[in-house]
Amino acid sequence: MTERLRERLLVKPGARPQLASIDPRETFGRERASAEGDLQALRTRLEELQDRLWAGDGGALLVVLQGIDTSGKDGTLRHVMTAFNPQGCTVTLFGVPTPQELAHDYLWRVHQHTPARGTVSVFDRSHYEDVLVVRVHELVPKEVWSRRYDQINRFEEHLAANGTTIVKFFLHISREEQRERLQARIDTPEKRWKFRLGDLDERKRWDEYMAAYEEVLDRCSTEGAPWYIIPADRKWFRNLAVAEILVATLDEMGLSYPPAGEGIVGLVVE
Ligand code: ADP
Repeated sequence: MTERLRERLLVKPGARPQLASIDPRETFGRERASAEGDLQALRTRLEELQDRLWAGDGGALLVVLQGIDTSGKDGTLRHVMTAFNPQGCTVTLFGVPTPQELAHDYLWRVHQHTPARGTVSVFDRSHYEDVLVVRVHELVPKEVWSRRYDQINRFEEHLAANGTTIVKFFLHISREEQRERLQARIDTPEKRWKFRLGDLDERKRWDEYMAAYEEVLDRCSTEGAPWYIIPADRKWFRNLAVAEILVATLDEMGLSYPPAGEGIVGLVVE
């Protein structure tokens, strides 16, 4: 079951995904009623697998979270990534670059936060912003951003070849769902801090963002660093899907606890 869901959400290299034809409300037959229990079981599994990653010397995991405003990056962090022991997990938010970051190549700030062996790094936004917001707002000329897809693929290939497993999630919501979520941010005092007037300008560029995402998904889903499109209008399904794919990815890393040191097994502590 898990394998089939993962397979269906995977962007196969060269598949040219059309976001308009992928339903953000899809749930692949999963039931809301059992979602909470299922998520709990997956969280327990994530915790176990991460413990092996932390204990051993078996590699590192990089998780990239991307999506339009209100797509649920924060919620995914809160509901799924909190299964990880914070000792071995870092979360980095990539916002508007600082002057120092802008003075370097765009991958410089990202590389500093890739995971050390034994750890998980989660990117809340990422180097993909450099072909998303940067492209939509023409922050650099087309000749510059258009070369970045290949550069990003080479960067990720380099990380993968050096022991980092990479998994990338695009949280796919509908335009109507975004309208409701933005409205809720305006109307709910506890959510208002999340709303900025600029969010409405970004919303006007919906089609441009979707085109930019389609190019990312088309060109940068590789064997070593796959993209998954997560239908994300339903938060419970989004959480389940991300958790299942993370479990499957960590499972595949074949993590095991390191062997006991010489003379330890059978020792009796007096
Ligand atoms: P979020 O919206 O994810 O909760 P912020 O409010 O800090 O977090 O938003 C981060 C902002 O930084 C987003 O508008 C995003 O487009 C912008 N950003 C991220 N990376 C870049 C970049 N490389 N160049 C320009 N803007 C960027």
